Amino acid sequence: MTSARAILFDMDGVLFDSMPNHAYSWSHAMTQFGLVMTEEEAYINEGRTGSGTINILAQRFWHRDATEEEKVRIYKAKTDMFNTLPPVKPMAGAHELLETVKAAGKKIVLVTGSAQASVLNNLEHHFPGYFSVDLMVTGSDVKHGKPQPEPYLMALRKAGITASEAIVIENAPLGVASAHAAGIFTVAANTGPLPDAMLRDAGADVVLPNLFEVARYLQELD
Ligand code: MG
Repeated sequence: MTSARAILFDMDGVLFDSMPNHAYSWSHAMTQFGLVMTEEEAYINEGRTGSGTINILAQRFWHRDATEEEKVRIYKAKTDMFNTLPPVKPMAGAHELLETVKAAGKKIVLVTGSAQASVLNNLEHHFPGYFSVDLMVTGSDVKHGKPQPEPYLMALRKAGITASEAIVIENAPLGVASAHAAGIFTVAANTGPLPDAMLRDAGADVVLPNLFEVARYLQELD
């Protein structure tokens, strides 16, 4: 088993098979405001804070940043749309991976760009006993979200460890870039439709196809 002291988990697309719902709701919510975002673009922007994603579209279509009021309205529309969709299920292999990490005595840390209360509540419901509030970084905690290193640097501080004592599990290019910029060894689980090369180019040290392979990889690592 890896000698890392903590495993830092992204949430959407890693712990939960939630990206199809996020991509659908981003794309459909944006059209209500005259903004066009394909589902593929939602995958490419995965990991950004809601506000950061909204600003990319606002810049493209309105040639300015969204106002705070627009951001709140659009993010609410996206969240409302998300909450009408079928409930999100845990990712295949997530329980097994978390149990492997917990049984090895590693700290389990959550680092997500999401600030959706419904999704965060889902975490305790589906994975009781693995996560604690003091070892969580969410979209509302950071000023500069993924792909900036701030979320992962904050996670290291909260866990009381250095970058070399951690391993990150991410699924999205911007999440990988954030972890890589924080100087942390990053394992990408490519659970979505983007090519492996996008994750490698973002700085992933390893790209694996699913969480079962991630669990096996961590167990074999020194
Ligand atoms: Mg993700």
